[in-house]
Amino acid sequence: MIIVKKVFFFLLTVLLFFVVGCDSDSKTEEETRGYVTFWFDDGLLSTYEKAFPVFEEKGWNAVLAVVGSRVVMSEKIAQEGDKIMSWENVKEMEEKGWEISNHSMTHEKLGDEKSLNYLKMEVLGSKEVLENYGFSVESFTFPHGDKGCDKARDMVQLNYFYWRSTVSEINSLPPERHLKCLFVTECMDRKKIREWINKAEEEEGWLIIVLHSIINNPVGWWQQTPEQFAMIVEEVEESSLEVVLPRDIFELFAEEIRW
Ligand SMILES: [Zn+2]
Repeated sequence: MIIVKKVFFFLLTVLLFFVVGCDSDSKTEEETRGYVTFWFDDGLLSTYEKAFPVFEEKGWNAVLAVVGSRVVMSEKIAQEGDKIMSWENVKEMEEKGWEISNHSMTHEKLGDEKSLNYLKMEVLGSKEVLENYGFSVESFTFPHGDKGCDKARDMVQLNYFYWRSTVSEINSLPPERHLKCLFVTECMDRKKIREWINKAEEEEGWLIIVLHSIINNPVGWWQQTPEQFAMIVEEVEESSLEVVLPRDIFELFAEEIRW
């Protein structure tokens, strides 16, 4: 009889272990909170053709970082297997709720020391171009994984509400003006993206996911395949993170921001 009891309690313990174990994996709204933003760099045609329709279907909006000079950017992107979207495409996306960010005039590195006139052209000239097209621009997106030289950052601080570098971090909340991100590379797999999402959930933070071209045969480590893009969307959808725009976050935390 004692043996039967022992076996019974052993089985009960095993059962409880599995029930509790499984339950701790399932997420509820109360358990985890956090936010996620998709940020598409460069204003690429593949963003318009492949990401925009998916986001429309899901009711999500994202940030589109656009370069001021179409000519220069078209030449650069042609070598990378993608095209630049038209201003009409940008307009359509903004009208649907996407947030437009300035991604400089010619997409050059701004990390090294530059002359003031050069920086004015890259940081402010492109803002003027975008505003002349009727876009409202709250942020600056540093090109080439930069966070800019001191002079560039000063100029950005004076002329933009917030800006994004490629510093690899989850943003704490309330947010700072300098936004950090997860820069997706060709080798980012499901396990890695899940790790970042879990971290954002645990910290109740704000994850910004940066994407570029969505093409079948990436030529650069910063590009994504359609399968990789679909996987990231799926992981975000299954998470407890809420898809938001930076303007939503700054509005949401307006009372708590101390800078
Ligand atoms: Zn870029």
